[in-house]
Amino acid sequence: MRIPPREPDFVRRVEELSGEDVFACYQCGKCSAGCPFTSGMDLLPAAVLRLLQLGDERVLESRSPWVCASCLACEVRCPKGVDIAKVMEALRLLVLRKGETGLRLKEVPPGVPQIALVGATRKLTP
Ligand code: SF4
Ligand code: SF4
Repeated sequence: MRIPPREPDFVRRVEELSGEDVFACYQCGKCSAGCPFTSGMDLLPAAVLRLLQLGDERVLESRSPWVCASCLACEVRCPKGVDIAKVMEALRLLVLRKGETGLRLKEVPPGVPQIALVGATRKLTP
């Protein structure tokens, strides 16, 4: 079995973009327990951190960074001060920069509230 290097390139990019040390997390789970949006996530916030620590690229396919509302409930609970919202944002940026997804304005139905459009633009453009 191949053991991945401690810090693969995509993990280093996440740390650069977020300014956070994903290896600071010691998996206490307080972030996951306090996150109000876990029902829409396929990976709990702590699991996102764990996959990054393991260098597991499946984290890039997770729905969780897109569900994260940057509410910061996790950060205030984290005993290690990890700002998971920034980590989630960095993961979104990595995916968006690959050009595989993003906001297509022509596909937005009419009548979408302006605030939702602004929020989506912020979240879904690299
Ligand atoms: S910032 Fe994101 S991950 Fe953290 S508690 Fe809020 S929704 Fe959950
Ligand atoms: S609260 Fe902080 S240390 Fe605990 S699992 Fe979440 S990110 Fe890791």
